[in-house]
Amino acid sequence: MSTLNVDTIDMGTVVDHIKAGKGGKVLEILGIDKDYKHRIALVMNVASKKGGTKDIVKIQGKIVDDKTANLIALISPGATINIIKDEKVSKKFRVELPEKLDGLGTCPNPNCITNIEQCKNSFTKVDGANYRCHYCERKFQADELA
Ligand SMILES: [Zn+2]
Repeated sequence: MSTLNVDTIDMGTVVDHIKAGKGGKVLEILGIDKDYKHRIALVMNVASKKGGTKDIVKIQGKIVDDKTANLIALISPGATINIIKDEKVSKKFRVELPEKLDGLGTCPNPNCITNIEQCKNSFTKVDGANYRCHYCERKFQADELA
């Protein structure tokens, strides 16, 4: 049984199992702001069946693509993405930290060449949840890149 109540959305995305407190950041990554025209639900600090608390966001009218899913993974690995079409879950997957990030994320080092010149970011996962910037070779936590 799913704990998700998706009946308020007929086409869109539900992101579940977001790390508690990160739901707002997920909306930011998805480019949702006060000008967004469709319904959005941000549910924070709800009890998770897995223990602890979680955030959930439901967005009518927006289908999350794989690239964006990778960004969500940076701040909340293990979150689940549910793509809703015709009021049904048409696709469901867990976001995982990718081995490599190309053209995604931002290097937190202000002196990094990627922040000075327009060039494509590239990060490689070095351990657990850390990434190394291909250009300045500094190591960062995944959520610093989002
Ligand atoms: Zn860098």
